[in-house]
Amino acid sequence: MSVFALIDDKHVPLYRVIWIAATPHFCGEEDCEREGFYEVRLEQAESVWANQQQRDEVLAAIESWHTGEDEWRS
Ligand SMILES: [Zn+2]
Repeated sequence: MSVFALIDDKHVPLYRVIWIAATPHFCGEEDCEREGFYEVRLEQAESVWANQQQRDEVLAAIESWHTGEDEWRS
């Protein structure tokens, strides 16, 4: 399994992800380009924006990444 996840148009290393928004972005601004996208917070106060499918893939990838780590440790 890759350590990278495709978010927006970027390959992001999973270990750089700090949190993932539970709800899609909405700020009410007419020209907002992020509406409906999920914010993915990275280290260094950076953010990238995932569509719903990318968000699901990142969550699943991080989950199986940590699960694999636990198996490896025990
Ligand atoms: Zn906005």
